[in-house]
Amino acid sequence: MREATQICSAEITRRCLLQGATRGIGAATVLGMMASPAMASKIPQSAVAYRATPNAAQHCDNCRLWEPPNACKTVDGTISPQGWCRIYVKA
Ligand code: SF4
Repeated sequence: MREATQICSAEITRRCLLQGATRGIGAATVLGMMASPAMASKIPQSAVAYRATPNAAQHCDNCRLWEPPNACKTVDGTISPQGWCRIYVKA
């Protein structure tokens, strides 16, 4: 059986994060984190260099991850339609 770190190196998944979390901080803490699945599953804006201004023709409201009127499927918090971040995916 391969180590979890080898499996996770190819693709970071929610399962990988939870496996690491359960080893490091215990099940009770993880269950507390899971109390708000929507918040636990999104990435902080700072982690993807989110900004409220576009990158040329790339902006949130033409990104595949955009959720009108002001949210993103992947990035946490209020998102401007004219914003942009490093994980932009053309719609
Ligand atoms: S550019 Fe980034 S923040 Fe904006 S919708 Fe796409 S993934 Fe979300």
